[in-house]
Amino acid sequence: MSVSREVRVVFLGPPGAGKGTQARLLDERFGARAISTGDLLRRHRRERTVLGLEAQSYMEAGKLVPDALVLAMMEGEIATSPSFVLDGFPRTQGQARALDGILERLGRPLDAVVLFELPRARLLERLLGRWTNPRSGRVYHEKFAPPQVAGLDDDDGLPLEQRSDDRAEAIERRLAEYDAITAELIPYYEARGLLRRIDAALGVDEVSAELFALVERDERSPTR
Ligand code: ADP
Ligand code: AMP
Repeated sequence: MSVSREVRVVFLGPPGAGKGTQARLLDERFGARAISTGDLLRRHRRERTVLGLEAQSYMEAGKLVPDALVLAMMEGEIATSPSFVLDGFPRTQGQARALDGILERLGRPLDAVVLFELPRARLLERLLGRWTNPRSGRVYHEKFAPPQVAGLDDDDGLPLEQRSDDRAEAIERRLAEYDAITAELIPYYEARGLLRRIDAALGVDEVSAELFALVERDERSPTR
């Protein structure tokens, strides 16, 4: 069932925590457009745009793409979407401050920042078993969320791929970037009263039940 209302949520959490999976479910449920910076950057890379070519080496190495590139790409996406879930953005304090400025100018405050929490060992098993449809961004897991036919997407029937940065070395770098840079956003949003924590170690349906309840609670909050 889809519910129509404005929802503006940021997903925060390490790679592999299940943000992309839940962003799509929130999109289906609330019509909040799932905007994944990773998916957008990968599309630029595939289409060999200037931005994609500039971002490529950072992504391959598991490093964050510089703020200026990410912001140039995101500003228009946010301005044209009154209802959204941001998956993988912001990832630095500079991006978070820029997002605050954009939303203030638009007069559209955030409802909540959802922090996906789960133990490190679980992240590795999720990332190493992830398969993606590069055309739609839909993700599967060989053990936890397998496609109907191994290696093929349920929707378009075409081959799934493993991301080039879902290899041990790049994963290590991405987790280190998260710890050193992105995790600083936890106190940033906590201080603004926006942070909500969810137990991302649960199954997909349990996580989304927790998430939907949280979004509905925030939506009704009289303090907003
Ligand atoms: P993120 O966007 O945070 O990097 P994904 O949504 O791509 O994470 O999920 C990473 C992997 O874990 C995917 O293979 C996905 O199918 C799987 N996954 C997502 N949520 C769960 C869950 N709650 N339980 C088990 N596996 C999950
Ligand atoms: P993701 O799909 O979210 O795992 O992102 C894949 C890669 O894209 C990251 O490892 C970064 O190289 C890059 N990336 C995605 N989002 C951002 C962001 N907000 N800031 C900087 N780099 C990003």
